[in-house]
Amino acid sequence: MELKEYWSDRCHSSDFKLTRIGFVAIRFRWLVTLLIIGIAGWIAVDWWVLDPAHFKLIWKIRLITGVMLTPLLPLSYLCKLNRRWMFASLYCLLGILLVFNLVSLWSFRDGTPIPVGYIAFPYFLLALLSVLPLPVKSGLRVAILVTLSVLATDYWLDSRSLDNGALLDRIWLLLAFSLTMIWVQVGQLRMLLDLYRESTRDPLTRLMNRRLFVRQLEDVRYHSAPDRPYTLILMDMDRFKRINDDHGHLMGDEVLVSVANTIMDIFGSEAIVARYGGEEFMVLLPDTPLEQGQRQAETLRLAVESQPVENPLGEGEVMVTISAGVVEGRPDSETQGLLRRADEALYAAKSRGRNCVVAQA
Ligand code: GH3
Ligand code: MG
Ligand code: MG
Repeated sequence: MELKEYWSDRCHSSDFKLTRIGFVAIRFRWLVTLLIIGIAGWIAVDWWVLDPAHFKLIWKIRLITGVMLTPLLPLSYLCKLNRRWMFASLYCLLGILLVFNLVSLWSFRDGTPIPVGYIAFPYFLLALLSVLPLPVKSGLRVAILVTLSVLATDYWLDSRSLDNGALLDRIWLLLAFSLTMIWVQVGQLRMLLDLYRESTRDPLTRLMNRRLFVRQLEDVRYHSAPDRPYTLILMDMDRFKRINDDHGHLMGDEVLVSVANTIMDIFGSEAIVARYGGEEFMVLLPDTPLEQGQRQAETLRLAVESQPVENPLGEGEVMVTISAGVVEGRPDSETQGLLRRADEALYAAKSRGRNCVVAQA
């Protein structure tokens, strides 16, 4: 667990960012729907509890707020596209609701006792916002915005609130609700991160799995320039079944972890590395032409060949080799076609007697 993952979304992968924003968008839509129903529907309650003079003004405020919230529903579909839209939608929602809070409290400026529902509205809002899986930094921004706006509204409507302690009372309540909101939001972010990792990582090697790899490949393809190709390396352990048969599955697993570590050591963080299948690994090298990719695949092949893997039960060590197929991709290459070509190159490497690299343009 890394604390900075909970502080801001900067260190989240672009794929997780999109996944999280998708969750936020769905919850945001529900939130807006509930708020429209709640704010407009509360007119019936106000009609019951407020005196007619107040009701005459407040039902209009509620109706206008409900109407202003409605465009946020289609906006929530844009909200899932990127974080800019997500924050724009969120701050629009906050803006409308904080203005609603201000105007509705202002309508009681003649000294009529304010119904508790109106006083509690900002706290209710903070509680509702806790359904969004936001990192601490975003949660803090929301909390500060709500707190400052509520305090400014209070001060503006009753400047004596500073002297009689009412403002202080508000501050500690807002603080308590804000901290609870952030705590719940981060709890959801954590759950989302855990579930995301479980569904996109291979539990044995901790490399990404095929599902995430294909998404990343499509992303690299989409962002690649025609003059800057990318390279795909598909590799497969040679005679791996024999290792399992001769030394047991535990040793087989150990070999897979060891090869995964070697791949990570050789390619580092610039490459996208995945466990593609049982004993197959895939490496995607963005911005890399075929010859360079082939050289790197060769370096990896030699590294694997020269590193014996120790048996975890202390029963000696085994030598392993890999075969690899290397292909080059362009922005117009089809993902499935590219994967098929990589498979064919690998097949050619196996046919040539294994422990070799075959590159196909
Ligand atoms: P080739 O050189 O033609 O690739 O031969 P191979 O024996 O490597 O290929 P084959 O497809 O016949 O066997 C792959 C084996 O990999 C079979 C399967 O039991 C083993 N395997 C797949 N996943 C795992 C795993 O997670 N752990 C272990 N220990 N073995 C695995
Ligand atoms: Mg194999
Ligand atoms: Mg295989």
